[in-house]
Amino acid sequence: MGYSKEIWNQANEELRKRRERRSMERERRRSVCFAKVPRLADIEYAMIQTGIQLSRIVLEGKDVVAEVNQLSQKHQALIKERTALLAQLGYPPDYLTPKPYCPICEDTGYTDTARCACLDKLLKEIAAARLNSESPLQLCSFETFKLDYYPDRQDPSLGINIREKMTEIYRSLKSYAEHFSLSSKSLFLWGPPGLGKTHLALAIAGVVLDKGYSVIYMPAQNMVNRLEKDRFSSGTEGEAETAFLECDLLIIDDLGTEFLNSFVQAALYNVINSRILSGKPTIISTNLEFATLRERYPDRLFSRLTGCFADLYFVGEDIRRKKKKED
Ligand SMILES: [Zn+2]
Repeated sequence: MGYSKEIWNQANEELRKRRERRSMERERRRSVCFAKVPRLADIEYAMIQTGIQLSRIVLEGKDVVAEVNQLSQKHQALIKERTALLAQLGYPPDYLTPKPYCPICEDTGYTDTARCACLDKLLKEIAAARLNSESPLQLCSFETFKLDYYPDRQDPSLGINIREKMTEIYRSLKSYAEHFSLSSKSLFLWGPPGLGKTHLALAIAGVVLDKGYSVIYMPAQNMVNRLEKDRFSSGTEGEAETAFLECDLLIIDDLGTEFLNSFVQAALYNVINSRILSGKPTIISTNLEFATLRERYPDRLFSRLTGCFADLYFVGEDIRRKKKKED
């Protein structure tokens, strides 16, 4: 299991672009500054010379301490002069050396001992973006969610005001998205169809993505298709499964609509359970009642869904029908 060669290539290409952008920006800043203040170019040349002299002294075994002190003083004086000249131009002391995207590995993707966290993040984001490419992530936001569609009256069987309940759910999911972190809890959105579960799940995905986290949104059937493709076709190297396990937030929409077989049951359990064990948040939405879920899924999966997720029950009347009437 791991990321496919294509994902690796894409990640390496992105790192190469980051290094290239930095080097081009460095050249641009230098040429602008050197044209305005030619002395800055002389200073740079002098600093290179002191560096060369320093290595020569060490190689020739001369009185290292005295010479090094002298060169170091010269070097400090050059830095001071450069800082003053850059300040006159309105720039900070390090302006001629633009900062890398990742200061830990300087955009190489590796530290001396390990893969850098920035490369892990890049791999997760690329894998998620590939899986999200068919999802309508941009279509639904919290701003376009209309609470007016929910009637302002009591639900006789539940004894609660429908609009008030949905306002509460809306606010709590909006706050969840805005305050999302890797330690956010997992959510279970359930209730009859057409009550805005998908809309709000997509809205969460949008906000959390904007915060810089990797998010995968997948209808359950598509997710299952990807897992089966991983398992039964060659050349995918477990790409989808890795992405489902590694992403910061996984959203499985419409659980219960997927075609079930023993492979699918085990694969779903593995993804959901592994994410729980590694403490990663997952959001699941379903139109099914708990009794149906219990019949449909093995006990171990059902107990994960009921025991490890905070559940929010959606109420109201099918808003898709209401929207149609308005159109
Ligand atoms: Zn890095």
